[in-house]
Amino acid sequence: MRYAILSDIHGNHEALKAVLRDIERFEREQRAPIEAIWCLGDIVGYGPEPKECIRDVQAACQLTVAGNHDWAAIGKLDLDEFTAPAAESAEWTSKQLAPLDRVWLRNLPTTSAVGQFTLSHGSPTNPIWEYLTSSLAATPNFGAFDTPFCVVGHTHVPTIFLLSDDITVAPPDVPSTDTAILPSISIDSDMMPTPDLGPFPDDSEMMGTPEMEPFPDEPPPLCEHIMPSPGLWLMPEHKRAIINPGSVGQPRDGDPRAAYLIYDSDIGFEFRRVEYDIAATQRKMTEFGLSSYMAARLEKGV
Ligand code: ZN
Repeated sequence: MRYAILSDIHGNHEALKAVLRDIERFEREQRAPIEAIWCLGDIVGYGPEPKECIRDVQAACQLTVAGNHDWAAIGKLDLDEFTAPAAESAEWTSKQLAPLDRVWLRNLPTTSAVGQFTLSHGSPTNPIWEYLTSSLAATPNFGAFDTPFCVVGHTHVPTIFLLSDDITVAPPDVPSTDTAILPSISIDSDMMPTPDLGPFPDDSEMMGTPEMEPFPDEPPPLCEHIMPSPGLWLMPEHKRAIINPGSVGQPRDGDPRAAYLIYDSDIGFEFRRVEYDIAATQRKMTEFGLSSYMAARLEKGV
């Protein structure tokens, strides 16, 4: 079985089109059909073509979960939790959406499980808001899903967290529900540090889920944290993994090419990067009066 996994499109239709073309190219060249395409949320927000992205995701993806920007664009999240550029873009995006787009976004699930995979935008514990940027943040999340793999987005950085499958992790305290669980500290994805911008801040600053109290006596070993390069990555035996494919429409790992993932059950995970017409997206952002700061970031991949 083969699946393509996309996340964080952010209204960047040029990037999404390039990724969908690349999936077709993969199928042709490898003579290997992709059984399904999954989307891990943040289809809209920041970018100039939210409607076009919704239309293509509806047509191409068999499973889609909601991200924080999808909820913000339909008023399901309070914009006070967002930075100024994110809030402005959510308001602009909201005005572009047709009633049916809003209904569709509103009804997206926050998590979904299919076969060996659990899908969520941020984390399986807190699907809308939690950023998995470190082993400390990721480890308790292994107690929040039952499948061998969990795929997440939200940080816009291709990442793998690995834990031995014989380690049992207590489920985190925070319940996983359909309701947004807001962090105690207001953060937004565009405040995320990238590898280029220095080390990640302390988890207690980032997550609002400090102290790690579920393990007061004997903390379990932390999961391994891998930053994969583009290309094939082979899953070691007897492990479970939380995997982030990176972002289609707004990469933040220093590589401006659109990022996504192909999983082949016979081979492994392939982290793919695709060039797209960044200047065209930037021109549309300028034309629609969207944030020049967010447009400029696209060509740097930060
Ligand atoms: Zn995002």
